[in-house]
Amino acid sequence: MKIKIADLEFETLINENNILERAKAIGQQLNADYQDSVPVFIGVLNGSFLFIADLIKQIDINCEIAFTKLASYYGGTTSKLKIREDIDLAMDIKDRDVVIIEDIVDTGNTLNYLIDKLRLRMPASINVCSLLLKPAALQNPIEELKYIGFEIENDFVVGYGLDYQEMGRNLRDIYKKVN
Ligand code: 5GP
Repeated sequence: MKIKIADLEFETLINENNILERAKAIGQQLNADYQDSVPVFIGVLNGSFLFIADLIKQIDINCEIAFTKLASYYGGTTSKLKIREDIDLAMDIKDRDVVIIEDIVDTGNTLNYLIDKLRLRMPASINVCSLLLKPAALQNPIEELKYIGFEIENDFVVGYGLDYQEMGRNLRDIYKKVN
């Protein structure tokens, strides 16, 4: 299906049923991997809010859930990526097994920034679950990235939490920009 958001046209890439199936499979894997622990799931807002909700409903071991909010942007006259922290994590994660839940990993800069920050708080372990990964855009391998929903091409995507100009987060499916 084709849709229009502001000046751009998008077409369906991944439908809701396939997303929910992957969330279920990853949830079962997490239940097995963390059966002897009480992990802390850290959701990275805003883009991952729907994935966090669908994934966490599949978790049947004891766990805690916390949130942080990051925004990455190209600041000032330089083209250097800057990351702004809008909401800091309000939980002690010392000696805890942490699972970061992300919407999408593109260059990996945002995730590396977050992992480095969380490491300073001395968790027992950090792993990452991302709904989407663009392997061709990833600048350095991230060994913590253990759970991946879908690997996609270098397309700009919206829907299921992801936005274009803050719109499109409400869409049930994931769409890619039509070139
Ligand atoms: P990275 O730091 O890995 O390059 O980018 C991560 C962030 O950029 C994501 O958390 C997301 O906010 C944004 N981003 C990267 N690719 C896309 C995309 O295709 N669509 C949308 N809506 N956001 C993206």
